[in-house]
Amino acid sequence: MTEKTLQEKMFLAAGDEKLFEQAKTYALQYMHGIYERRVFPEAQALAGLSQFDEDLPQNAQDGAEVLRQLHQYGSPATVATTAGRYFGMVTGSAYPPVLAVKWLADVWDQLAALTVTSPVTSKLEAVCEKWLLELFGLPSTCRAGFVSGTSMATFCGLAAARYHLLTRAGWDVNAQGLFGAPPFRVVVGAEAHSTVFKALTLLGLGKDRVELVPVDEQGRMDATRLPELDANTLLILQAGNVNSGSFDPLREIISRARAAGAWVHVDGAFGLWAAVSPQYQHLTDGFQDADSWSVDGHKTLNTPYDSGIVICKHPEDLVAALQISGSYILYGEQRDGMLYTPEMSRRNRAVELWATLKVLGREGIVNLVEGLCAHTQDFAAQMRARGFNIKNEVVFNQALVACDSPEQCSAMQQFLQQSGECWCGTARWRDTPVIRFSVCSWATTAADIERAVQAFVQAREACR
Ligand SMILES: *Cc1c(COP(=O)(O)O)cnc(C)c1O
Repeated sequence: MTEKTLQEKMFLAAGDEKLFEQAKTYALQYMHGIYERRVFPEAQALAGLSQFDEDLPQNAQDGAEVLRQLHQYGSPATVATTAGRYFGMVTGSAYPPVLAVKWLADVWDQLAALTVTSPVTSKLEAVCEKWLLELFGLPSTCRAGFVSGTSMATFCGLAAARYHLLTRAGWDVNAQGLFGAPPFRVVVGAEAHSTVFKALTLLGLGKDRVELVPVDEQGRMDATRLPELDANTLLILQAGNVNSGSFDPLREIISRARAAGAWVHVDGAFGLWAAVSPQYQHLTDGFQDADSWSVDGHKTLNTPYDSGIVICKHPEDLVAALQISGSYILYGEQRDGMLYTPEMSRRNRAVELWATLKVLGREGIVNLVEGLCAHTQDFAAQMRARGFNIKNEVVFNQALVACDSPEQCSAMQQFLQQSGECWCGTARWRDTPVIRFSVCSWATTAADIERAVQAFVQAREACR
């Protein structure tokens, strides 16, 4: 018998199921252990990562061995973001049934550029778009692009705005770029997310030439200090301040922008989901009158990474701003996903978004959002009862715990991380160092909140 070539060995043969069975065993082991595991890995697990410091092998390696190495040294060095005591970054967990769906779709390895490269992805993107527009109460004529996160979604929304405003001024920005272009104004809140400034930078609009609108003590744009707007303006608002969770007064400001003819973009990375809840939709009141929105799946909605969505009321501007052309591109009658995103080749991330929306249903989504907020209220109340100072009005899923000094803050945060009990980030809020607590996982329980509060009490003891 002749030795098989490497290619021949790679085809799936009878018996190779073992590898997938092994992956399944490892994955289930991981998932079963995750809820009780430490949140941040212990030192020993981090040290184990040195196992990956090896030279690129000269010869083909056994797949089972590659998988074993990843599980043995990779799995313990993860942060337990899918469980209930990860409170960092406003980023959410992932539902096990959706992870199962993702497994199947991973095996498809679809190219989500065009309908002709993946009819099923095209269909699921169209379904997600329709469902999202219905959930948010946006006109069915809006179009959505499925991108990696809100950073990219904001970039897309602002690119559409730039194209729109410059076209209206008689300038073809795609052909001529910005050199010599008629200027337009960019008005943004002083507490806008760093990714808004990044998008402005990438688009050649400059992060320092903006008109900054002062904010109130919760980080909301102060409508009384909004400059006079005109049609030659891009106004960027925020639904959900990444620290305090506060919302700009959207209705009041957007109505003034509408009257002036400005383009309004809303960064609603995690906060736009307030719009689906009867209890919290007052926070986003009026947002539907904007021109474009960015929102994440992987934060409040708890889809797996990575999942961001740009929604735009003027599809022709979005498509024109992001479009490339090539004679080999075969556009179809159906939705071609790449039209609404900067990328050409993309993974089929709509699968997980579709599955999350369907597994939850409207009621499940509302319960998810309201549950995250209720846990945050509960956390704040328990912390106050133990003498902690919560610096923000807890309006959504963010609570800011004041520290005595920046040193105490970072010591406490490190203590929390090292205890393995919970994971939190730090920030500066109104000149006070704070530990930032975001409840963003479907898996968080009342018991998890109690454990986190206990961990804070111990951290305060240890870091006096
Ligand atoms: C997280 C966040 C972003 C960035 O989103 P990514 O999905 O991480 O790219 C932008 N704006 C706000 C308000 C956020 O909370």
